[in-house]
Amino acid sequence: MTESRQPLTILLASPRGFCAGVDRAIQIVERAIERYGRPVYVRHEIVHNKYVVQTLEAKGAIFVDELDEVPDDRPVVFSAHGVPKSVPAEAGRRNLLYLDATCPLVSKVHREAERHHASGRTVILIGHAGHPEVIGTMGQLPPGSVILVEDAAQVETVPVPDHANLAYATQTTLSVDDTVGIVAALRRRFPEIHGPKLEDICYATTNRQGAVKAIAPHCDALVVIGAPNSSNSMRLVEVAAANGCHKSRLVQRAAEMDWQWLDGIRRLGITAGASAPETLVEELIAACRDRYDVTIEEVRTTEESIIFKLPRALVA
Ligand code: SF4
Repeated sequence: MTESRQPLTILLASPRGFCAGVDRAIQIVERAIERYGRPVYVRHEIVHNKYVVQTLEAKGAIFVDELDEVPDDRPVVFSAHGVPKSVPAEAGRRNLLYLDATCPLVSKVHREAERHHASGRTVILIGHAGHPEVIGTMGQLPPGSVILVEDAAQVETVPVPDHANLAYATQTTLSVDDTVGIVAALRRRFPEIHGPKLEDICYATTNRQGAVKAIAPHCDALVVIGAPNSSNSMRLVEVAAANGCHKSRLVQRAAEMDWQWLDGIRRLGITAGASAPETLVEELIAACRDRYDVTIEEVRTTEESIIFKLPRALVA
């Protein structure tokens, strides 16, 4: 007699997982290995996902923290999060062959910051201290030209040199709803502040949060496949909690799933951060099927068709 298993309905958020910027960054490393041979050096995790990093290592990538770990005769790729200007400058000084995998949507924020600076404005960057994207964006301008704020409370007290000459920019992977509040606080305190028409939060972050918002109220628990240092993944956990699914957590892979945590759960939401490959979602669903009688409902809130071009050096 076969043991009857508990039913589990999986609400699968869509869009989820890889965005166009992550896809492009991974392709840059793969194509660089094909073109220049092994090893190709990569400064920092190309995207924040251990599985992706290990897969690229197996193909011939070597991940390093700084350029001084890269030999003069090997190519180096800069990660999708963007780098301070000093990094390509140093690579140029050493005549290194470098490929920039900075997401074009992050580069757009860099150009905006430069434009404001050239117009004499101090830039207030909304973001998380220490995140590589924030370090990269702040590093587009001379030291001291960008002021970082992390939340609305900081906006109330942050000292600025000239209230009438300010602009703001945002990290691309923030919570859409939290950022609305921070921008509102900025506009209240500094009514003349310049900023983007919409925030700089990217389409992929916005869409993944939108899909989680759609399923969260219908889930007893929700799992985000992603890495703890992935900003957009962490925001998805928070968005689920803020939208009716208080039992939400980040899991890197099925192997680390705490199955007791699912006791009594009938409807499980699953999504993945922009740097998490679909194979890890499939792995988690397969692990659920081993334990439950699974039914899958995919909830798609929007279609995505964005593709970013590869650097010319890799397609010619
Ligand atoms: S999350 Fe957004 S900004 Fe970051 S790589 Fe993806 S598309 Fe680009």
